[in-house]
Amino acid sequence: MSDFRLTPGTRLVIATHNQGKLSEFKELFAPFDLDLVSAGKLGLPEPEETGTTFSENARIKAHAAASASGLISLSDDSGLCVDALDGQPGVYTADWAGVPRDFGRAMQRVEDLLQQQGATEPGKRTAQFRATLCLALPPVDGGGIRDIIFEGEARGTLVWPPRGTLGFGYDPVFLPDGYDITFGEMSSEVKHSWSPQKTGLSHRARAFAKLVEACCV
Ligand code: IMP
Repeated sequence: MSDFRLTPGTRLVIATHNQGKLSEFKELFAPFDLDLVSAGKLGLPEPEETGTTFSENARIKAHAAASASGLISLSDDSGLCVDALDGQPGVYTADWAGVPRDFGRAMQRVEDLLQQQGATEPGKRTAQFRATLCLALPPVDGGGIRDIIFEGEARGTLVWPPRGTLGFGYDPVFLPDGYDITFGEMSSEVKHSWSPQKTGLSHRARAFAKLVEACCV
């Protein structure tokens, strides 16, 4: 349990330029009555993600936003880790979509590699979505930025062809364990499956549930 609390009215920077993540955080934070503002809206620069782990990249993004804005900032570094591909694309999940981002191409790249491995049976197509959230607190009394990390994971199987038009990124190929529809076929309420009484379904919602337990209750 952290000694820090996000109380109603607190201004919180969501340190992302990814619209999909931003709208999910707005939905998840709705019950808490915070004053959310995105890094994009504040015109904050997008730092280069030079880390080799989700937590390193989450720290880079949250610290950059907190030092540029002087406000409490929350980042999310996330990605898809495919078992048959030794955890790829992992921290490079966004990069696999190229520039400009094309997630159809990124999903096809994952599928091509799975086919090369002969991974046609569902049991050989298992994957996890992982999310690491970093809450960065601006310095007080001449100290440095403090931070708190929260992690969440959702396990599932990759389907082909992609199914559904909801969500973002790789959602249409991810069938979470225990469901017969992909994240791309789910409303965001079902994808989160989070409320103060529930633990969450998606990686982001599960990490968020830990943040709430530590900082909002
Ligand atoms: P990054 O955290 O900015 O490095 O980007 C993570 C990438 O992982 C995103 O651009 C998405 O493609 C993918 N990703 C993360 N979370 C999700 C999700 O909930 N659904 C689909 N794709 C996701």
